[in-house]
Amino acid sequence: MKLEGRRESSNVQDRRGSTVAKAGGIGLGGIVLFGLIYLLTGRAPDPSLLQQMGQNTEVSSQQQREFTEEEQALAKFSSQVLASTEDIWTKVFQQMGRTYTPPTMVLYTDAVQTACGQGTASVGPFYCSGDQCLYIDLSFFSTMRQQLGIKNKGDLDFAYAYVIAHEVGHHVEYLLGILDAAHQQMSRLNETQANKVSVRLELLADYYAGVWGHYENATFQSIDDNDLQEAIETAKVIGDNYLQERARGYSSPESFTHGTSAQRMKWLKLGLQTGDMSISTFNVDESQL
Ligand SMILES: [Zn+2]
Repeated sequence: MKLEGRRESSNVQDRRGSTVAKAGGIGLGGIVLFGLIYLLTGRAPDPSLLQQMGQNTEVSSQQQREFTEEEQALAKFSSQVLASTEDIWTKVFQQMGRTYTPPTMVLYTDAVQTACGQGTASVGPFYCSGDQCLYIDLSFFSTMRQQLGIKNKGDLDFAYAYVIAHEVGHHVEYLLGILDAAHQQMSRLNETQANKVSVRLELLADYYAGVWGHYENATFQSIDDNDLQEAIETAKVIGDNYLQERARGYSSPESFTHGTSAQRMKWLKLGLQTGDMSISTFNVDESQL
């Protein structure tokens, strides 16, 4: 992906090096995880994980350390991707007669305090609508490269951009009222039914990541075929079936929260191809997901 010379976002909070102390009460709401928890536990994010995330904490100290060149390059790249999402979504929202307010991207290491409770790096990137922030521990990207077995030998930069754009996609869902409506609906459903709503939310975030890529490339010709392949390969290896089978040898569709590999690839591709905001995962039958 070509982003040389492009601006960086001013909506980045760099909290790397801050350490987070111990726990207090639980305050959970509006949180959306990227779904790589399978890699560590072999199962979907569950209430106990969410309780871990729901513990309020205080920042206790600042550690000063030098970041490597690679870490700094990754932070800059992430900031440029975020800036691109701001420019693209501002225009797309204008076309819909709406106003886009950008989220803040918080870079952290190990653990971070959020309006949705404490987040830890082990859960992967996530979005919290309570503070409209997306939280990313940049070490996730090397974990992604090492553990997901992505075959593409390229630099994976567009795969990383897809991860950021997916989280921004949840912010778009929030601004459009879709995220809150879905979370309210989920709170009234049993787990299996709630998981089905979660799948629609996640596939829609993949779709919106694609919509962003569509306009980014239309405007800047920044995305080549290799980039597209690496993002689609990423969508494949973060499918629920793929991750569950990899972690424990079988998959249970009723526990899927993010969609299958085929579904994630399909919606990302559709967004990239069409850029059409009238399409939604909430407007189609389950069989069409
Ligand atoms: Zn998500």
